[in-house]
Amino acid sequence: MMSKREHGARRAWRIVAIAAILAIVGGAGYVWFGIKSLPPASAEELDATDRELFAELTEQYRAFAERPADLWTADYRYDTEPLILIRADSTRSSLWHYAYVINASNITDVSGMQKIDFPGNPLLSDVYATKTLGTASLEYWQPLAFTTTTLGDTPVLAMKYAPGELDGGDDKTQAVSTFALHEAFHINAQQAWDYDRGPEGDRIFDFPTDDAQMSLLRTEFRILDALTGQTDPSIVASRARDLLAIRAARYERWPALRVQDNTEAIEGTAVYLQRRMSDLTGGPIGILTNKAGASSTFTDVLAWVEEDPSRRELLERSLYYETGAQLGYALDVVAPDWKKQIEPPPAGERRTPHASLIAALGDPGSPTQAQIADIQARYP
Ligand SMILES: [Zn+2]
Repeated sequence: MMSKREHGARRAWRIVAIAAILAIVGGAGYVWFGIKSLPPASAEELDATDRELFAELTEQYRAFAERPADLWTADYRYDTEPLILIRADSTRSSLWHYAYVINASNITDVSGMQKIDFPGNPLLSDVYATKTLGTASLEYWQPLAFTTTTLGDTPVLAMKYAPGELDGGDDKTQAVSTFALHEAFHINAQQAWDYDRGPEGDRIFDFPTDDAQMSLLRTEFRILDALTGQTDPSIVASRARDLLAIRAARYERWPALRVQDNTEAIEGTAVYLQRRMSDLTGGPIGILTNKAGASSTFTDVLAWVEEDPSRRELLERSLYYETGAQLGYALDVVAPDWKKQIEPPPAGERRTPHASLIAALGDPGSPTQAQIADIQARYP
């Protein structure tokens, strides 16, 4: 027999349980019908943010459709690669309204999604909007979500965007379309690249900042500046040979520096792609584009790093995004098939940009002090 008191407790629990269930159902209903909402089905009716986003994608896709080998290789067609863009009110917010699933109808079931028509724009012929991708989209509730979602067997870049944040504010490298171009390249083109996966990694710990190292590094950065804009093969070759000799001297004395090559292979190529896209479309990304949107020289940036010990961290990894991209531009002149060489065998040779330069111009071996002094005198 249950006492009256037990009976009352049980009843109270039942009320709590029902209230909890109602709250969950109500919350889910609010999310589904209140927060979740699909955009209009036709391009002209999209809001200004989405129209701008698709205008930027169209510009990038057109460049890839027309001149893929001027960006990366003829085989890398970003304009046909899948992409997921998640619409939020702020990228720092958890809430999201819907996701665009682009170029994915051949790898996932889009029958329950809303097709968005872009009349007269064949570059956006495969765009769908959805309120959910099932469990795959649970992580889209994270603020600042940018992640990899696997559709079928294909890893796809998924990233949040929001009104007023498309252009990255002052930091043009963080503009949504530019950032997506970079991150999608890692996912779409570099799946088989293992440059940063070895035990040595891709970060230089305890970067040496003694006089000998910094003197060589200043020369290397002056040579990188002397390569800017150069398209004459003999000039590029002679300056790049000087660079190879300086770098050989650095690596010989401080072998831990060699992992710079790994960052240049993975991140340098992704930045190279951003710079090439800017070249072709009149975009804002140049050499060492900073948070104020301005380009810089390698020499100035190194001087700025040397001013303040707390900035030396940039020498561990970040700067090689930029040196790698600059080597890519030199390789375009002296070893145009470097983008094939960087692929793992059998398609390529698994050569970093640095290794491709050596293959094209010869191994400098161990330069003597006199040779180093000669080179340093050429870049005062
Ligand atoms: Zn990256």
